Amino acid sequence: MISEPAGRKTDAPLFPFLLTSLYSGSSGNAWLVRCGPRSFLVDAGKSARTLTRALAFCGVEPEDLDAVFVTHDHGDHISALPVFSARVPCPIYATEETASTLTACGVFRDRIGILPAGGSARVGEVTVRSFPTPHDAPGSVCYRFETDEDACAVATDVGRVTDEVFACLCGCRTVGVEANHDEERLRSGPYPYPLKRRILSDEGHLSNAACAALLRRLAENGAEEVILAHLSRENNTPALALAAAREALSGFPHVSVRAAAPAAVVEAEVLCRR
Ligand SMILES: [Zn+2]
Ligand SMILES: [Zn+2]
Repeated sequence: MISEPAGRKTDAPLFPFLLTSLYSGSSGNAWLVRCGPRSFLVDAGKSARTLTRALAFCGVEPEDLDAVFVTHDHGDHISALPVFSARVPCPIYATEETASTLTACGVFRDRIGILPAGGSARVGEVTVRSFPTPHDAPGSVCYRFETDEDACAVATDVGRVTDEVFACLCGCRTVGVEANHDEERLRSGPYPYPLKRRILSDEGHLSNAACAALLRRLAENGAEEVILAHLSRENNTPALALAAAREALSGFPHVSVRAAAPAAVVEAEVLCRR
């Protein structure tokens, strides 16, 4: 009997991006972005030991990483790198401004590839683009990962949704987006006024409401898997962030939403992939 080759029965990507939050929040941030044989890290907060353990939980050894991309030079995004960079052979990409902090912290300069805001890097079949973010760290960026078939992006530590931040995320099937605080909680909470002002500023962090409004626009442009990230322990709860997001996405039942955790691995939930 001769049978026809099965072929691909759906329009699902051949190598879909798989987005995983290794840990998230002001105590430390790291994302794992996988696509077929490729593995990338975005940010490396906490310690090299904690990062290595979280990667191992996902079945990834540090030597398996194809590249590390650093968003900005705040400690919750880079603190593992001085030790971790000595253990991984792959390049570490950052803007010039972030790179100068990394070298001052002990990362060897020859390990760092300069990727300016607005620039792109090609790693195998994956193109990685960086976009400037409004945040109180010089040279702060977010990243978008693309193949011919699929796209994934992560954007945290953004004071507001600029055209560039939206361009980074728009059209991606999988996104990690900041939902830092419930504005009411932050305003009425115990933080000193200067800190509240910083978080609420255009160069601070994204609120649940701003995140929710963004997610609706992203769902209209193909987003299907969402991880809410960088939730404040003091000024937010996963329930509050998820409720705001799910309400905004009530007309998009095919979009899955999860909340990242400070000390647990959270993988994007697959509802549509076949
Ligand atoms: Zn920051
Ligand atoms: Zn941060």
